[in-house]
Amino acid sequence: MSRALLEASVNRSGLVDFTVSIPTVAMWERDQKCEAVISDAMRWANQVTGHSSGACLFGDIEELLPYRTFDPSWTYSRKLQATLQCAGTSPWGHCTFHAQTCSTGKVSSMDVSGLPCPDMSLAGKRRKRAGSTNGVYCARGKYVTQHKVPIVITECTPELDMGLMEDTHPEHHMFQMFAEPGDVGFAATARRRTWVIGMHQDRSTIRQDPYELLESVKGLFANDPTTVQDYLVASRAEVLLEASQLAQKRRIPFQADCLDLTYLLTQREKETAAALNARFQEQFGRNAELEPALVYHLGDSATFGSWSAVSGRIPTYRVGAKSSVYWLPHYKRFLTAKEKLISMGWPSVPEIASSMHVPLFGASDPRRAGDLLGNAMHMQICGLMQLLALVSFSPNL
Ligand SMILES: [Zn+2]
Repeated sequence: MSRALLEASVNRSGLVDFTVSIPTVAMWERDQKCEAVISDAMRWANQVTGHSSGACLFGDIEELLPYRTFDPSWTYSRKLQATLQCAGTSPWGHCTFHAQTCSTGKVSSMDVSGLPCPDMSLAGKRRKRAGSTNGVYCARGKYVTQHKVPIVITECTPELDMGLMEDTHPEHHMFQMFAEPGDVGFAATARRRTWVIGMHQDRSTIRQDPYELLESVKGLFANDPTTVQDYLVASRAEVLLEASQLAQKRRIPFQADCLDLTYLLTQREKETAAALNARFQEQFGRNAELEPALVYHLGDSATFGSWSAVSGRIPTYRVGAKSSVYWLPHYKRFLTAKEKLISMGWPSVPEIASSMHVPLFGASDPRRAGDLLGNAMHMQICGLMQLLALVSFSPNL
């Protein structure tokens, strides 16, 4: 989606004297539950660019490696060795979009992947290259090495094991950058990530310093920060719709006229919110319920202190974000799915969509919108990184 947005924005800008076309040719996603969301996203992207790319959607990328290349119980170095030595990736795979076997050998100039972060992140066990997700890195590395993909972009948590990246992508030179939503104007969203641009040693040439370019872009947004309130766009009807859904899920009688949603919180969530209110009072000498920009993530304990009080940012959405409550003590309600999407740069209200010159996305069904969070990349940052990569590196034809 961010690539479609980038393509349309560059073409509309008139800044280049050629037409940019960057069709998506293939995607891999292990979780079948994501299929519907990916399908919606492709439809949206086709509308934005005005052309259909006929992309394939394959399943688990580890299945690209020949059958039994390694056993999941093997050590990292043994798996790496087996991957580097195996003949090559499987030329065919089951494609969900075309409901048939399709070729995996697509000609690709640029790969963008969000690789698994549980083995890297502070929230996980930090097993890094020894973790069970190392096979995904091996398979992706094998694919882009075999196909000599000129530009390879990887998104992960900042603690990404770069040794693992370099081992598994032996023909790419890596440029590791860090970015957060505030760098592109979304200062009230916490989601610091690393973005690693890999340049193929034979197929790409560096033209510009991507680090310098990133710093100059960050400078453009430094003086115009958003606050949490900028994201609070839900109407009364939308708040009540999500309240009714939570009520149904939690088997609590829905109160159709009540905008104070405290009654929908579990006992543990109420205790967490109360403890954070008390902590706020103690730390800042003010009443938390009078602070319109304050957000608590009630999925964490009060001791962990997952709140916006110090940073002014909504705490990072995690994989469980779909069901965990981001509570606004001043408004006595939670952030709606649409509001969370907006904080991640998605065009989910007409004003934002029209300013981006794109159709609305994820606005009609809150439950579907919630599916996008947790794993999603920030839309503008993902587009920015692709732009930086395309400007900084040119292909050797
Ligand atoms: Zn296909």
